[in-house]
Amino acid sequence: MLLTVKTKLITNHDQKTSLLKTMERFNEACNLISVFAYKKKKFGKIALQKEIYYEIREKYGLSSQMVVRALGKVAESYKVDKKVLHEFNLHGSIVYDQRILAIKRPDLISILTLDGRIEVGIKYGEYRQLDYNRVRGQADLIYKDGTFYLMIVVELPDAEPIDPNGIIGVDFGIVNLAVSSDGKVYSGDKCTKVRQRYSKIKAILQHVGTYSAKKHLIKISGRERRFKKDTNHCISKEIVQTAKDTNCSIALEDLSGIRQRTTVRKAEREKHEKWAFFELRNFIEYKAKLLGVSVDLVDPRNTSRQCSVCGYTNKKNRKTQETFACLECGHTENADFNASKNIMLRAAVNRLMVFCLGN
Ligand SMILES: [Zn+2]
Repeated sequence: MLLTVKTKLITNHDQKTSLLKTMERFNEACNLISVFAYKKKKFGKIALQKEIYYEIREKYGLSSQMVVRALGKVAESYKVDKKVLHEFNLHGSIVYDQRILAIKRPDLISILTLDGRIEVGIKYGEYRQLDYNRVRGQADLIYKDGTFYLMIVVELPDAEPIDPNGIIGVDFGIVNLAVSSDGKVYSGDKCTKVRQRYSKIKAILQHVGTYSAKKHLIKISGRERRFKKDTNHCISKEIVQTAKDTNCSIALEDLSGIRQRTTVRKAEREKHEKWAFFELRNFIEYKAKLLGVSVDLVDPRNTSRQCSVCGYTNKKNRKTQETFACLECGHTENADFNASKNIMLRAAVNRLMVFCLGN
C-alpha cells in the first residue's frame, strides 16, 4: 500500500530563501513551458522535452532533472484540460524524485536547490512514523503559510490478513461520530463543541471583514480541520486496534454507490461533515490494511430502519435521531447501535454465503 506522509521542513533563514527561490524559478519555468505548449498545441511531456528543454535549462538555470520535472508538471496539468492556458502559482509544488532528493536519516534530507544540495531537518506529524527505507519514488515539496512541507510517498507492506473469528459493525453519524456493534460509542460531543466555538469566532471575524480578520479566519478554519483530523485518527486507531486484538473483521456500509442514492441521511449531508466522515472511513480502511484486519463492505440500504432483532424494516421504527423502537417486536435501543448491529449482521450473512458457495 502506498501512503503519503506529510513532513515539515525545519529550515533556517538561508535554506528557506534557497528553497523559495528554487520554487519560484521552477514555476516560472512551468509558466513558460505552458505558454509554449498552449500556443503550439503540444501537450505531451516527450514532445515538449524535445522542443524546449535546452531553452528552459539555459534561461532558468535549473538542473536537468528539475527541467524534466517542470515539463512533467505542465504535461500532467494539460491532461485534464487543454482548452485554456494554464498558469502556475509561483509557490506551487515541485515534484522531487531520488535524483534530486535523498533521505539521509529519518530526520534529515538532502534536497536540490538553485544553490546546490542543502541538508534540511524534517519533522513528522504525530501519527505516522516514517520508515525511510520504504520511501518510494516521489515527494512533493509544498509551501504553505510560510512553511515548507514534503509529502513523501512510502510503500508499506500490507499485513498478512487475519482470518477473523468475529465481526465488528461500525456505523457513522454526526451526534455519535462512530458506534460499533460491540457497544462502543465514539462521541462527536467534543467535535461539536469545538465547531460551535469556532463558528462563533468566525461569525465575528466575518463581520469585521478586514484583511487581518480574514487571515485569522483562515487560521481558525485550519485549526478546526486539524482538530477533526486528530479526532478521526484517534477513533480509527481505536476501532482497528480493537478489531485486531479481538481477531475480528470490521464491517462498514458500502458507499460506492452513494451518489445515486441521495436519500441516505439527507439531513446529515452538510458539506464539511461529509468530508470528515469520509476521512474517518478512509483512516479505518488504511489502518486496517496495515494491521491485516479485513474490512467488509455491506449494502447500506435501510441499516437505520431495520430492526436488528427481528429484521422488520420500517421508516417509523426510527422514532427520533437517537431512539430505535421496532413496531413489530418492540425491541428498543439506541438508533446508531441498532444500525451498527445491522451492518455487522449483513457482513456475517455475506461471509456465510461466500463460505457456502465455496463448499
Ligand atoms: Zn423487531
